[in-house]
Amino acid sequence: MISCDKCKRPAVTYIRHANLHLCAKHFIEYFERKVKYAIKKFNMIESGDRIAIALSGGKDSVTLTYVLHKFLSKRRDVELFAITVDEGIEGYRPPTVKIARKITSELGIEHIIVSFKDYFGMTLDEMVKLGDKKPCTYCGVFRKYLLNKTAREMGATKLATGHNLDDEVQTILLNFLQADIERLARLIPQRVQEGLIMRIKPFREVYERDVVVYGLLHNLPMDMNECPYSYFPVRAMVRDFIYNFEEKYPGRKYSIMRSFETLIPCLKQMFPQIKLNRCERCGEPTSKRICQACVLLEELREKKNLSQ
Ligand code: SF4
Ligand SMILES: [Zn+2]
Ligand SMILES: [Zn+2]
Repeated sequence: MISCDKCKRPAVTYIRHANLHLCAKHFIEYFERKVKYAIKKFNMIESGDRIAIALSGGKDSVTLTYVLHKFLSKRRDVELFAITVDEGIEGYRPPTVKIARKITSELGIEHIIVSFKDYFGMTLDEMVKLGDKKPCTYCGVFRKYLLNKTAREMGATKLATGHNLDDEVQTILLNFLQADIERLARLIPQRVQEGLIMRIKPFREVYERDVVVYGLLHNLPMDMNECPYSYFPVRAMVRDFIYNFEEKYPGRKYSIMRSFETLIPCLKQMFPQIKLNRCERCGEPTSKRICQACVLLEELREKKNLSQ
């Protein structure tokens, strides 16, 4: 039996990049310290905040809900609530919506569920059948739209997402490889844009693996299923590359993150934030005249009318 490096209890996990064997108690302390560090570093939570958690019901957002509730439930000056977007993906989304309901009711967190069907008149499955775009295009645009709109209408000051260190470094490298530096600049934390609720990512300093370990140690419901539309071959290559690199040189995920953070001042100069317009149709923020959600929706509605 391997024992914890901090005490003599049995170790439940090994943090490779820090060469640390930790028992449950010390791992939980380690994990929460990392999350608190990220929150403090980017001033993610301030007095008076009303924080909306983007709760899909997947492992990351469920764990995030638990952790934020643990950190904030005693504070009188910060409020927490959760928003779940039900895109309408048969077989995949219903179980996670159920998990989202369960965790919020157990923790006593206000929970709002909004669906593509109710808001746009079609599920994602129906959109995919009608349209010619990739499922993730519809899903990404409409989910972002609904999350932002609902969060704003519910008085949120921040929108917390469950992106972890692995997600972030994959996106950073992917943007470099695709020479999409403008998109890279969108990863700068705490970007303020009128009409867009500020995103915060409290898990940006924790490995995906550690999120799973933390969730398992707390018996949180962990849905590990993958969306049936998930198809990201380039991202999968980047993920595998980072995995192999990290295996050989532990801690390199942090190196990628720190390199990106060093570039933030340059990125801010290269891509100063533009003032967003209001969509002429729906009034939501957009860099164009008409927002992408309205453009896609019109295309889909035309196709739907033609097919009837
Ligand atoms: S993988 Fe599935 S849930 Fe994720 S963006 Fe694509 S369609 Fe949506
Ligand atoms: Zn210990
Ligand atoms: Zn619009």
